[in-house]
Amino acid sequence: MEIFTYDYYEELLKAFKNNGYEFAFFDNLDLINKKDAKVVILRHDVDFDIQKAKIMCDIEKKHNIFSTYFFMLNSKFYNIHNLENYKIIKKIISLDNKLGIHFDETSYEDKNKLNKFILNEIHFFETLFKQKIQVLSFHRPIEEILLDKIQIPIAHTYQKLYSKDIKYLSDSKKEMCGGDFLDIINSKKYKKIQLLIHPFWWNKTNRSASLDYEDFIKRKNTELKKEISNNSDIYVFQENNG
Ligand SMILES: [Zn+2]
Repeated sequence: MEIFTYDYYEELLKAFKNNGYEFAFFDNLDLINKKDAKVVILRHDVDFDIQKAKIMCDIEKKHNIFSTYFFMLNSKFYNIHNLENYKIIKKIISLDNKLGIHFDETSYEDKNKLNKFILNEIHFFETLFKQKIQVLSFHRPIEEILLDKIQIPIAHTYQKLYSKDIKYLSDSKKEMCGGDFLDIINSKKYKKIQLLIHPFWWNKTNRSASLDYEDFIKRKNTELKKEISNNSDIYVFQENNG
């Protein structure tokens, strides 16, 4: 089966179910700490493209599965205040998923005030989406965070409990760390797993990471032209030139 395809992702979800895993949110501590329970915490970091997060969410719903979606406040690629994006995120929440903050510390100059900025972002997200924020994931985390050496005012996905005490699997850089995820799940080797899936890397068919970027650039380019056209009497967007 081709990896990084929606079909593969469905197989992955089925494999968790068939092997007796329960799906958990980051704050389901009783379940996560339950000695013999098989538990998976599904996480999505949305770095580029909110539309692709929605596709992931639709697949999960087909299988009655929930996960935690992490969005950015200060992204240059998407704006969560934009009505279209806002509606998608609201829809994702309404399907029993949870919202987390994908925090990019490079958005801020004064690194000594990290906790203040984190509290600000929590406030922004909670006010906008009316859902309690219980967990944060760092975008391209610095070493101190990976080593769980920094204390922040909220739970985060690189804490020992979520990344060292349990098996941490990630598709970062469009690679399956530790080997084929399906094989790992079917091996039944790990009782507790945190699985990080970046929706950006997943498609109908398998393709290279550079093609994912190129496709994204193409779509954004068209979007930008349409948007300029919508806001200008001088520039006219023509579909065949897009
Ligand atoms: Zn990220």
